[in-house]
Amino acid sequence: MNIAVIGGGPIGCYAGYLLAKAGNAVTIYENHPQIGSPIQCTGLLTSDFDQFNLPMESFLVNTFSHIQVHAPGGESTTINQREYLVCRTKFDTFFAELARKEGAHILVNHSFRRKEGKNLVIKDSLHNQEVTITPDIVIAADGPLSPTAKAYGLYHAQRQNYYGIQATVSGNFDSTTYSTYFGEQVCPGLFAWVVPESATLARVGVGTTKNTKQYFDAFLKKHNFIPLGIQAGAIPIYLPEQELQQENCYLVGDASSYVKATTLGGLVPALKQAEILVDCLLHGKEYGRQVQPVRSKMGLHLKLRRIFDKFSDTDWNRLVHYINQPRIQKVLETHTRENPLPIVLKSLLWEPRFMYFLKHAW
Ligand SMILES: Cc1cc2nc3c(=O)[nH]c(=O)nc-3n(C[C@H](O)[C@H](O)[C@H](O)COP(=O)(O)OP(=O)(O)OC[C@H]3O[C@@H](n4cnc5c(N)ncnc54)[C@H](O)[C@@H]3O)c2cc1C
Repeated sequence: MNIAVIGGGPIGCYAGYLLAKAGNAVTIYENHPQIGSPIQCTGLLTSDFDQFNLPMESFLVNTFSHIQVHAPGGESTTINQREYLVCRTKFDTFFAELARKEGAHILVNHSFRRKEGKNLVIKDSLHNQEVTITPDIVIAADGPLSPTAKAYGLYHAQRQNYYGIQATVSGNFDSTTYSTYFGEQVCPGLFAWVVPESATLARVGVGTTKNTKQYFDAFLKKHNFIPLGIQAGAIPIYLPEQELQQENCYLVGDASSYVKATTLGGLVPALKQAEILVDCLLHGKEYGRQVQPVRSKMGLHLKLRRIFDKFSDTDWNRLVHYINQPRIQKVLETHTRENPLPIVLKSLLWEPRFMYFLKHAW
């Protein structure tokens, strides 16, 4: 098969790698001049990343053993979890190199422009010319605003994005622990984060649907952080109604909105989604059906997000207080957030007072 992947992010390159490895002619079109730049991501991965059996030396920045959760009232709780922090430029480059080594062509400075019948028009900005291609398969891995999904009429009218802003800051940090901060004054609905790269450097940010910059500035000020460099980007809110295929075009990654709505982590679920898509293309399986296990997890994250959206500061204080018990800590140590179902069920079983929050479910 002759396959065009639009978007040279990690998910497009991973799908391109797997398809090239299976003997297909793959070309990956990336609109920026360099893979992995500009960075628009914190780079946190849960230990579920281990399932992909990929060497991490080239992109790993730090490994955490604890997550600290801060309630607005001042109480905090520490959860023992192994997590990874990666450099997104090196991470994306790693996946691009995997694809290249299997024979995929990667064309930077090449931007998908429009669809004309079965043809795609690509702008080569290096030579300032348009090129027409007619691939058998098109993989839209072009991020949260996906021009390809739009051109195929796939971009659902109800799609919404969060906006995340983060800065690198210097200070004194415990490099084994990253922190999250909740509360109406900090970041309504979502959260702020302080994720150390080392004992002296951290990535600090907030994500919201509106007034992101205002909350970001207030958070930096409160913690006396001076930004050394700022990054920002859109993060899709998972939309269950989002179709994944039209004609010969398949959506994957942020283009399909597959991001955990609770934490805004998109990398681990979308790498899994890319594996499923490739398996479907290689073996004639139905993508929409095969991706259902990932979809179910995304759906539960979204339900939890809708509950958190209605949280008051009192609710956050209560939640952190309930989590601060050994039996709940044990549940949170045993399961990563990739699959929230066992966390929700076991937490409700061990601490029936969690039922209180279900009032926000409707
Ligand atoms: C501030 C912030 C923090 C985040 N933190 C985390 C985190 O800690 N952990 C986590 O798991 N996720 C995080 N995310 C989400 C994560 O960045 C995404 O889920 C992930 O990048 C999705 O990968 P992707 O390959 O689908 O899309 P992208 O990484 O967005 O890649 C899409 C690529 O397509 C290219 N492209 C776009 N349009 C065109 C076009 N017309 N033609 C050709 N190429 C095009 C883009 O330049 C880009 O390179 C964060 C996001 C933000 C904004």
